[in-house]
Amino acid sequence: MTTVYMDNNATTQVAPEVMEAMLPYFHDLYGNPSSAHTFGGQVGHKIREAREKVAELLGALPDEIIFTSCGSESDNTAIMSALQTQEGKNHIVTSRVEHPAVKVLCSHLAKNGYRVTEIPVDREGRLDMDHYKESLTQDTAIVSLMWANNETGVIFPVEEAARMAKSRGILFHTDAVQAVGKIPIDLGNSSIDMLSISGHKLHAPKGVGVLYVRKGTKYAPFLIGGHQERGRRGGTENTAGIIALGKACELAGEHMEDENTRVKALRDKLEKNILKKVPRSRVNGGGAERLPNTSNISFESVEGEAILLLMDEFGICASSGSACTSGSLQPSHVLRAMGVPFTMSHGSIRFSLSIYNTEEEVDFVVEKVPPIIERLRELSPFWKPEEEACATGT
Ligand code: PLP
Repeated sequence: MTTVYMDNNATTQVAPEVMEAMLPYFHDLYGNPSSAHTFGGQVGHKIREAREKVAELLGALPDEIIFTSCGSESDNTAIMSALQTQEGKNHIVTSRVEHPAVKVLCSHLAKNGYRVTEIPVDREGRLDMDHYKESLTQDTAIVSLMWANNETGVIFPVEEAARMAKSRGILFHTDAVQAVGKIPIDLGNSSIDMLSISGHKLHAPKGVGVLYVRKGTKYAPFLIGGHQERGRRGGTENTAGIIALGKACELAGEHMEDENTRVKALRDKLEKNILKKVPRSRVNGGGAERLPNTSNISFESVEGEAILLLMDEFGICASSGSACTSGSLQPSHVLRAMGVPFTMSHGSIRFSLSIYNTEEEVDFVVEKVPPIIERLRELSPFWKPEEEACATGT
């Protein structure tokens, strides 16, 4: 059975070119970049090159790039740094729909004396900008808002939000883990102070990430240790991972157009045809600006987990909720924040495509999914075919 992988917001395939670029750093070129000898030094040179490639994709300066181990570390570092460098300011502004890397950290901080404001979203997952503006106060240490939502793909107006924060002297961090490589980013012309990336979301391996810190931003390291990353993140560098991420960023720049044309068209075709064939289904966040690769579809009166299991029989990989929350039967916090009714949020599936998906795969999914939903609805005690479509349904 072949695998139809449409779970790219959970993780991506390492690109063959990335694999090729990183492999020598496991065997032939395994030196420590901090070593004084030439053998190690040549690795240091490749890390500098990778830093330049990441900076180029972001429109940043190479010195503004700090390599980390993952998106979660980058998010934690940004928020903790802002709190440490601004003693006395104890307020954090974030949103209700952040990834656990930000959300759970903020809940932890709230239990430890910090004040946290979570900005609500509307039915389409759009940020309530009036509420946001009102939430910024004299004691706000940092705003942390995701660029694009991992479950729905909904894009927040982070540039506008960052300008508002900056005009009040507040640091602005964005979790851009899902945005980088999918939509253009230019930090050269931006008010964003810090930004997080995760390698495994853009065809680099797991175990490498980046925190961008704008030049001049007050910063305190999270991992304290050696002088690596100019004293901003202790720990011997994940050389192969960093070189891989540099290559992945170079490729992401080259593939940006394909992502926003062909991949977007595939996503739109998938969505349109599933909605056409399945009554009482809806796209969550479909009315908002979204990433080109993500589609979160709710099917009324069916269990997301059951849909996943039946799709798995055909080799179709997708998610219900985010990968981190599936396993629990709680509907996703993102869909709940959007006010998606229980009967719809429980049966939501996230399809997330990449440049490696094909039209044949989309046609295959469009053929297999509708009978799966029909079969599950026949078994569901909640399914009332004669009832009016639920208010949110189509
Ligand atoms: N932020 C977002 C929006 C994500 O989607 C993820 C991963 O799913 C993370 C942060 C965490 O990244 P990592 O898995 O590299 O820690």
